[in-house]
Parts: sequence; C-alpha cells; structure tokens
Amino acid sequence: MKRKILTAALSISIGLSGFTYTSASAETLKEVQQKQAENHAEQAKKNKQVKKVQGEQDQLLKELDKLQASLKKTADDIQNKKDEIAQTKADIEKLKSEIAELEKRIKARDALLKERVRNMYETGGPVKYIEVLLGSQGFGDFLDRMISLNIIAEQDKTILEEHKRDKEAVEQKKQQVESKLSSLNGQLDELNSLNSQLKDQKSKKNKIMKQLRSEENHLHDDIGKLEEKDALLADQEKAIKAEIARAKKEAAERARREAAAKAAAAKAAKEAAAREAAQKAAAERAAKEKASQPAHESAPAPAPSKPAPKPEPKPEPSYTPPSSSGKFIFPSAGVVTSQLGSRWNKFHAGVDIAAGGIVPIHAAASGTVIRSYTSSSYGNVVFLSHYIDGQLYTTVYAHMRDRAVSTGQTVSQGQTLGHMGNTGHSFGQHLHFELHKGPWNVGKTNAVNPLPYIQ
Ligand SMILES: [Zn+2]
Repeated sequence: MKRKILTAALSISIGLSGFTYTSASAETLKEVQQKQAENHAEQAKKNKQVKKVQGEQDQLLKELDKLQASLKKTADDIQNKKDEIAQTKADIEKLKSEIAELEKRIKARDALLKERVRNMYETGGPVKYIEVLLGSQGFGDFLDRMISLNIIAEQDKTILEEHKRDKEAVEQKKQQVESKLSSLNGQLDELNSLNSQLKDQKSKKNKIMKQLRSEENHLHDDIGKLEEKDALLADQEKAIKAEIARAKKEAAERARREAAAKAAAAKAAKEAAAREAAQKAAAERAAKEKASQPAHESAPAPAPSKPAPKPEPKPEPSYTPPSSSGKFIFPSAGVVTSQLGSRWNKFHAGVDIAAGGIVPIHAAASGTVIRSYTSSSYGNVVFLSHYIDGQLYTTVYAHMRDRAVSTGQTVSQGQTLGHMGNTGHSFGQHLHFELHKGPWNVGKTNAVNPLPYIQ
C-alpha cells in the first residue's frame, strides 16, 4: 500500500515536471534571448564608440601632420635666423676692425699735424719756422714758403677731417648693424618660443592620441568580451534545449526502470504466494494421508519442497537520482579559500577551491556542456547546463589546466571535465566554481552560494 502511494506520487511528480519543463524552458529561453538582444545592443553601442574614437584619431593625426610641418618650417626659420645672426656678427667684427684702423689712422694723422704745427711755431725740429723765414732770400720767397707750409698743414687737416668723417660713417654703420643684430636676436627668441609652443602642442596631441588609442583598445577588449559573451549566450540557448531533452529522456528512463522493477517485484510476490499455497496444500494432504493410513508410520516423509527461488534481484539503477537537499557533488578536492560575495569591491560570483598537484575537476551534476573554451579572464573554462526537477542550473569551472570535454557534449555527474590550473586571470592554482540558479547571464544575477546545494 505504502509502495503504491509512493509510485503514484512519483508518477505525479514526473507528470508535474513534464509540465514545468515546458513552461520553465520557455521562460528561461526567453530570458536567454532577451540577454542576447541586450548584448547585441551593447555591442552596437561599443562599435559606434569605436567609430567615434577612430574619427577623433584621424582628426588628431591631421592636426599632428600640420604641427609637424609647422615645426619643420620653424626649425628652418631658426636655422636661417642663426645664419643671418652669424653673418651680422661677422659684419660687426669687420666694422669694428675698420673703426679700429681708422682710429689708428686718425691718431697718427693727428700726431703728424701737431708735429707740423709745433715745427712751424716752436723751435727745433727739421724745419725751423724762423729759419725758413730768416733764411729766405726775399719776401717773395718767404711768402712762397709760408704758403707752402700752410698748404701742407691744410692738407694734413683735410686728411684728418676725412678720417674723422669716415670713422663717424663706420660707427653709424656699426650702430645700424648692431641694432639689426639685436632685432635678429629678438626674432630668434620669438622663433624659439614658437618652436617650444609647437613642441608643447605636439606632445599634448600625442598624449591625447595615446589616450584615444588606449580607449580604442579598451573598446575592442569590451567588444571582444561582448562577443565572447554573445557566443556563450548563443551556445547556452542550444545547450539548454539539449539539456532539457536529455533530462526528460533520463526521467522517462528512470520511470521505465521503476515500473519494470515494480512489475518484477509483483511477479516474484505472486510466485512466492503460489508456492506457499502449494506447500500448504501438500502438507494438508500429507496430514490427511497420515491420519487415514496410520500403518504407514515409517513411510518416508515427503521430500522437502525446493526452497522458493529468491525473487529476481531488483535491477540496480546506474544513476541514483540525487536527493532534493543535495543535487550537486563537490567539483574537486581541495579547500574553499574564497566564498561567494563582495571581494576587492567586486562581486565574487563563486567559490574558490584550492589544492596542489594534479587535481581532477568533476561535473557537479549531469548536464550538457554549454561551452568549453579559453577565455582571457577565466582561462580554460567549462560552462555546464543542468535541468534538475524542473529547475535549470548553470555551473562554471574556471582557470583549469586543461579541458577534457567539448561544447555541446553530454556529461554525467562526477565525469572529469579537466584539471585544476592557474590559467586566465588567476594567481595560484585553484578552481573558481560558480553555480547559477537559472541560466548564466552577463550580470551574473543568478549566481548563488553553491555550498548548500552540495551533498
Ligand atoms: Zn574565484
């Protein structure tokens, strides 16, 4: 009786789960598709951002080209200015030496003139004025001599004046050239300051360029991650369908086995009852015979009936359905080093299990491989979809050394998925294990603490 109730309950539960399969799967698939649509929108947004950043880079490159041309021109101007300054300085040096030469000549002429005048009016010297006067033959002669002496002095004076004028002219020229030099130096200063401004602009623009490039790289990374997630979501949709079919088939197989076992047990019970009845009848018959034929006291007792054959052993199911409290098994040996929750200002969506050496990783429950691949963050990673008692679950096994299963494959509980490793964004060998009650999504909003679910 108790058994009958149990069987009825089982068939009802199978019926119910049959019902929940369809409604829950429709819902989860809808959720997956919605997440995919969100992911596509996000990708489109990122692609648009990339275009914008690339446009900005193109603009910046043009500006940098212009700046480079300006810098080249400024450098040429500076070189020309420097040449001009060098030329001007050489001119100034030449003028200075001309001035010095003229000064020397003026000094010499001045000395000569003074000498002549002294000779003319004072005593001594090669030409004594008085002697010229007294030694003259006549007044006419005297006058001639006087005049010629005066002419010589006049000539000296004229030469001196000329020298002085020359000197003035050269000094004026020198002043002009010096003012030219100072203006050239001013221009050079301006050019140098322009040059440093251009260099400054260039370095600023290069800095912006670097930022834009890094921004673009980040966007490409994001797009890569979104594409990875997109592939994961697409694979998940396929895997969920396959997993639901697998779970249904498994449930049907289980029901068939239960029914067969029940039928075998009933058959065995019926046979045992029949044998018991036959034995009883035989015993009764023997007693009756004994009573009617007391003379045959020594008659051999009837051969003991064959012992009833043991009922056929119940076929041992190859898979024991997990109890409702523990649907999953521990995925690997090791110690839990990090729990689910907030860690380093980020949500840690699973538990970390660490162990040294070659440590196999097991499927926490039977299921379908959503994806087995190498991710930049998760390293070697396997995503499994499980459909248990009308509830969809997803498990994630990250940072593995290697992977032993492939996308789309069916796995049974305890099957080796790979080995514990340190791949992807990981520091030290450990298994990062996630359990999601429902499908996996980008925000990991379905992540739950797996420990209470583990037997
Ligand atoms: Zn972790």
